[in-house]
Amino acid sequence: MKGRDDAAAGVTIGLEIHCQLTALKTKLFCGCSSDYRGREPNELICPVCFGLPGTLPVLNAKAVEYAIRIADALGCKVAAETTFYRKNYFYPDLSKNFQISQYDKAGGVPIASGGSVQVGGKKVRVRRIQLEEDPGKLTYEGTIEKSSYSLVDYNRAGIALVEIVTEPDFGSAKEAKVFLETLRSTVEALGVSDGELEGAMRCDANVSVSGGGRVEVKNISSFKEVEKALNYEVLRQGTFAGTGPGAPNETRHWDERRSITISLRLKEGEQDYRYFPEPDLPAVSIGAEFLETVRRATPEVQGLRAERYARDYHLKPQVAGELSRDEALSRFFEETWKTFDKPTEIANWLIGEVRGAVRSRLVGESPPVTPAGLSELLAMLDGGELTRPQARELFREMVSTGRRPSELTKGKAGPAIDEGSIAKVVSRLLSEGGAASDAKKNPKAFNYLIGQVLRLEPGADPKVVAKTLARMLKQE
Ligand code: ZN
Ligand code: MN
Repeated sequence: MKGRDDAAAGVTIGLEIHCQLTALKTKLFCGCSSDYRGREPNELICPVCFGLPGTLPVLNAKAVEYAIRIADALGCKVAAETTFYRKNYFYPDLSKNFQISQYDKAGGVPIASGGSVQVGGKKVRVRRIQLEEDPGKLTYEGTIEKSSYSLVDYNRAGIALVEIVTEPDFGSAKEAKVFLETLRSTVEALGVSDGELEGAMRCDANVSVSGGGRVEVKNISSFKEVEKALNYEVLRQGTFAGTGPGAPNETRHWDERRSITISLRLKEGEQDYRYFPEPDLPAVSIGAEFLETVRRATPEVQGLRAERYARDYHLKPQVAGELSRDEALSRFFEETWKTFDKPTEIANWLIGEVRGAVRSRLVGESPPVTPAGLSELLAMLDGGELTRPQARELFREMVSTGRRPSELTKGKAGPAIDEGSIAKVVSRLLSEGGAASDAKKNPKAFNYLIGQVLRLEPGADPKVVAKTLARMLKQE
């Protein structure tokens, strides 16, 4: 099951990842402990998560906070107001007969939507992120097909899940795996989930090959299995291609022990879930102030950013590491790069010139130097209009005056080179034997001297040099 050219086979894969917020102490809608691993079955339950009639859910605010952290890290837009919906279905692991979840249709608004993640050279779009409760856990005797009974444990029922739904942007099992690994290190760095814990991150995948039906592969319980399961499914569906109508729409189960997928049921349509607004939970407003508080408390996903800087901007690992540790300077860096396409120069400037001396002023409210201003300065330096010491000097002026470099240099004899220092250079050159008399007679010698001055003071305005030189020759 290796060596297939999946892209050529018309493979389309989308993922739905369920990620438990294992950093939470309690469940999503009740105060039961979420520390269910290794416990006796049905030990951590209460009337709310057991779904007894007449009980009312209360939303765990910390879960909202953690979901926002994930949303931010994946570049999603957080909703100003989000709503909960009931997803109705009967299954023994769900004693209420509905799951409290979120919905993106019929007026429903999930907590966040519309982000993306870079996977290798490809941008994978994230359709939405939603909060929902985990169902209980079923244990089968033997396999799911042959078992004559199943046991149910509701300790897991009501554990907070963040579901992440991607667009069908993956062209191979390998890409899906890279995405999942990136996602896992992200939630770990954010301090919201420990992806190593058994069942903490579970994945369903939608796979279709060459225009065949959409097959949902359920219950891929570990990331190790994802690549195997997807490769199996691509191969299986590939056998339909070209020989008929393609694979049918259905839901299949990944059997880890046998490493095959087996048919569970023909796929339900969304209407089968009879989604409707959860009447027991009001809409949740996420105000700007709350967002700000969450963002301030969010740990930097520093390792990931450093990797991205080294990869996408070709920064040296050490520079990428140092820059990415500073959240505000990182933002400044990316913003500057939009108008000045030399990332290494920007990065060196930010961690060399800026840091320490004036960093605090650059990242405060209405900073004196903006990314556009720095970009302009670096372009002047890059174009040879400024020497490095002059650029430093001009930068200090920008910081103290809050003005752009073009404003500061306008009408000046070079930004930091005044007529006095030009005159000093000129007089030194003229003191060299014969230079003055040559220049008086010969325009070529005159221009040669201007060139010499500009070589020694590259930031000087040639017009001012010529004027100074002519004036001083008259005095000779
Ligand atoms: Zn409970
Ligand atoms: Mn779900």
